[in-house]
Amino acid sequence: MTKGQTKTSTRKAGPRGLELLGDPAMGRPRLGPTAPVDMFRALRLIGVMEGLDDTLGKDSSALVHNSGKYLGYGLGQAILDATGRDLGKYVDALANKLRELGVGILSVPELRLEDDFLKVRVDECITCAGMPPIGKVICHFEAGFVAGVLEVFLGGGRKCRVREVKCWAQGDKTCEFDVQIR
Ligand SMILES: [Zn+2]
Repeated sequence: MTKGQTKTSTRKAGPRGLELLGDPAMGRPRLGPTAPVDMFRALRLIGVMEGLDDTLGKDSSALVHNSGKYLGYGLGQAILDATGRDLGKYVDALANKLRELGVGILSVPELRLEDDFLKVRVDECITCAGMPPIGKVICHFEAGFVAGVLEVFLGGGRKCRVREVKCWAQGDKTCEFDVQIR
């Protein structure tokens, strides 16, 4: 540490970019470090999804998917460093982290490695659980995130194609993602 740098937080070094989150508890002594899910959704669904669609003049889902992938790479790498390349441990650690953060309850209801296929389910999704149906799936960020964490686990430049097949926004009561490994 050079002169001028001071350590202000005991937060452990996280995945790439997560240091940007800073120390909200320190900066918000009266409001605290958490905010309601409503607030997150206003940002995610109205600010990011609808705002981006409008700015781009077209559907922004591919862009949002890639953003989610980027976060998935960062968080996935941090988890992989802790668990090693053991799929059971990796998925458990990821599920624990997402539950702790209030993002959702993650499970893998179907795993067919012989077909390079798995299904990932997210109950109580922070983005869409409880929202009215609008006739389409909307968890593109989350789909990208799933692709990112799995690609980090697989390594070797392998890619995952992730498609959301169930979503509250489509009238379902959970989110499900079909993953095809290539
Ligand atoms: Zn969804």
